[in-house]
Amino acid sequence: MYRFEPNLRIPGPTHLPPSVREAGGRQMINHRGPEFAALLARIDRRMRVFFGTQQEVLLITAAGTGGLEAAIVNALSPADRVLAVPTGAFGDRFAKIASVYGADVTRLETEWGRAADPAALRAHLAADADYRAVLLTHNETSTGVTNPIAALAAVVRELAPEALILVDGVSALGAVPFAMDAWGLDVVVTGSQKAWMAAPGMSMIALSERAWLAADEARMPRFYFDLRDARKTAANGQTPWTPAVAVMYQVDAGLELMEAETPAGVFARHAACAAATRAGLEALGFRLLAEPAFASNTVTAAWIPEDLDWKAFNGEVKARQLVLAGGQGKLKGKIFRVGHLGAVNLDDILGAIGVLEEVARMFSRPTEPGAAVAAAQRAVLAAVEARPAAAEGVPA
Ligand SMILES: *Cc1c(COP(=O)(O)O)cnc(C)c1O
Repeated sequence: MYRFEPNLRIPGPTHLPPSVREAGGRQMINHRGPEFAALLARIDRRMRVFFGTQQEVLLITAAGTGGLEAAIVNALSPADRVLAVPTGAFGDRFAKIASVYGADVTRLETEWGRAADPAALRAHLAADADYRAVLLTHNETSTGVTNPIAALAAVVRELAPEALILVDGVSALGAVPFAMDAWGLDVVVTGSQKAWMAAPGMSMIALSERAWLAADEARMPRFYFDLRDARKTAANGQTPWTPAVAVMYQVDAGLELMEAETPAGVFARHAACAAATRAGLEALGFRLLAEPAFASNTVTAAWIPEDLDWKAFNGEVKARQLVLAGGQGKLKGKIFRVGHLGAVNLDDILGAIGVLEEVARMFSRPTEPGAAVAAAQRAVLAAVEARPAAAEGVPA
């Protein structure tokens, strides 16, 4: 099968739409001038809709991990007690950043593939609620699980009302409904190369009023990531340091597409692509990792069957221009992942399922030609019918 470009089905970086690619090639401007100020203001205004916040969304030039580091160092002081609620490799990373900067981190563990359980969090906080902050992962990219942030945050607000809630929203913000203010979240972070359809390089971050007060008291060392500087300079339409201007052009162009599609349209497209991916993989006999009720709309993880030579199988997949992601951390070599976020369309997913079906037949796995693609298409119809009404505080 010949494609002009590979079908990049990894959970970021994601494909760039033509207008985004062209935006990245535009001429530089003075980052201390009025054109830049307008760009920064436009991105902030459009980002707020997807964050579900009235707070300003700040842009920092960094990978998503830099955004997580900024969240930690601006909210906390060394020796602060922090409750981490990891559900996979990215939750581990968030906890590790806090430890590296000297926080006293307690971990509430969840089996990988399952979502963090509000009842377990309730039980933990009922016994010990003396935390300065709770670290949550919105969408755990390593397992393909979306955690119930609203329910988890409600438990924290009830039992540890003073605790700050820090959320890694890197891999699903912009793709699924989110309501930072309505859910009472204090710091939310995302990254340009995930749902935002742009190249890597920018991290977006918003802080609640409480978090800004905390930022004034926080004593962890910070310089490049001092968000007080970012806020001060943003008021003058600038960033403290020279930003990745080309990536900002791209984020701006991506947001323009998302605004035209409407948030509800963007969310429905992700839900449909996710449903098609899950149904197609299951029809091919792959077992999914995520507990079904919390399966992610941006990435799907599946177990590699024990009797399958994955290296050879994936070699044939790659030869057909389909690029999948492997497992991370303790799931390395055990799972593969299909990304379906950003500029993803149903034909990308049906094409991917078609390739997997073809390769599965080569490997003498029980398949019937067209059956997996048909299952994927049926799942889309069901997803469209089951489309939920917009929830309170969530953009429509
Ligand atoms: C991708 C990702 C990150 C890290 O982003 P980088 O840009 O690679 O640093 C953090 N958290 C989650 C959930 C992610 O998916």
